Amino acid sequence: MTHWDPRAVIAAKRDGRSVPPLEVERFVLAYARGEIGDGPAAAFLMAALLNGFDAQETLAMTTAMIESGDTVSFPGLERPTVDKHSTGGVGDGVTLVFAPLVAALGLGVAKLSGRGLGHTGGTLDKLEAIPGLRTDLEPDEIGRQVAEVGCAVAAQSSTLVPADGALYALRDATSTVPSVPLIAASVMSKKLAVTTDLILLDVKAGSGAFMQTVEDARTLAEACRALADGAGRTCGVAVTDMAQPLGDAVGNALDVLEAIEVLRGVRRGRLRELAGWFAAKALEALEGVAPDVARDRAEEALNDGTALERFQAMIEAQGGDPRVVDDPAAVLPHAPVVAPLFADRSGTLARVQAAEIGLASGALGAGRIRKGDPVDPAVGIVIHPKIGDRLSEGEPIGEIHARTEDDAVEAGRRVLAALELTDGRVDAPDLVHAWWGPEV
Ligand code: URA
Repeated sequence: MTHWDPRAVIAAKRDGRSVPPLEVERFVLAYARGEIGDGPAAAFLMAALLNGFDAQETLAMTTAMIESGDTVSFPGLERPTVDKHSTGGVGDGVTLVFAPLVAALGLGVAKLSGRGLGHTGGTLDKLEAIPGLRTDLEPDEIGRQVAEVGCAVAAQSSTLVPADGALYALRDATSTVPSVPLIAASVMSKKLAVTTDLILLDVKAGSGAFMQTVEDARTLAEACRALADGAGRTCGVAVTDMAQPLGDAVGNALDVLEAIEVLRGVRRGRLRELAGWFAAKALEALEGVAPDVARDRAEEALNDGTALERFQAMIEAQGGDPRVVDDPAAVLPHAPVVAPLFADRSGTLARVQAAEIGLASGALGAGRIRKGDPVDPAVGIVIHPKIGDRLSEGEPIGEIHARTEDDAVEAGRRVLAALELTDGRVDAPDLVHAWWGPEV
């Protein structure tokens, strides 16, 4: 047998040539097994970042990452299942609303989630703000819970796509994260390793997202969609607004409180709108429901309490205190300092540095800079105005929930500096910029 030399793979990418898919797979799997060190792997990633990956190379990398670990399926479920994933943003509590809402509509949500990192929040961190709630569910527990309750949101285990964990850490350390094919392979490997009937992908675009422009987000969305097609999976992909925090809460317990208010039907706004929009897309794709009927059914489940009741059942099934739904203030953790935030001048909100608001919340303790750092469930930011809103100097616009007065002052300063006001009229940005529906 001839000796395989990984340097030939690196050299091909360095020189801008395509690497045969089997060679990409071999390289990734050899790295995952520890047969190739970080040095050659980093050189390969940098060559891929600089010279690009074609569709076949990207699919090969994705396939190899999936093959590096376990895959998960939920056999025997009577409900059609959906997995919804966001590429990450600020104030993005969609999953907290979407999962119970879709369960109330008779579909199943089996979702393996990640934790927040940098300026982006994570669904698991938010859910774990509910006392007692467990996210370390085994696949058979997830399957049982989806059958009984309709939804489960659990942590992705370390044996799911381990090559992505290792490669992502190496990309982080070598400034090779911002590459569309590498991000698409990373995101989609984790989705394709879990078998559901439908994947809904929410690619965020704007100042709080990985992709700052709608155009770049469209490119990533198309790359992700191509990977789902290549793997023979049904997938719908949207590009949605992240030019500002989606909801008003940027924290953990604060996001749970906001989600409960949306599920109770008492809170309107962009978070409710987007969660309802995705739920309707799931009904259309999996049940063939007409778009306007799907929208009405989603609205109804938010207004009549059935979605809230599914949220309570999910919390209880995962060991959390179900009283949180009826009396969130008594159950959720509180920060010792709650400082109101006031507009420091008058004008129309034109632009928001959303990542800065995410980082300010992180600095209060709600987020993490490094994987594995703990988060403080109680602290965070509530910021109400959205782009296009008119503010008057001195008007209350939110709150800072902090451990100390000094922390609250600093976070308040950062939030106000992240809001750009103008004198003229400003249109609210579209909530959904683009949508590629699943071919069913
Ligand atoms: N999210 C991921 O899961 N992977 C990336 O590479 C970037 C964002």
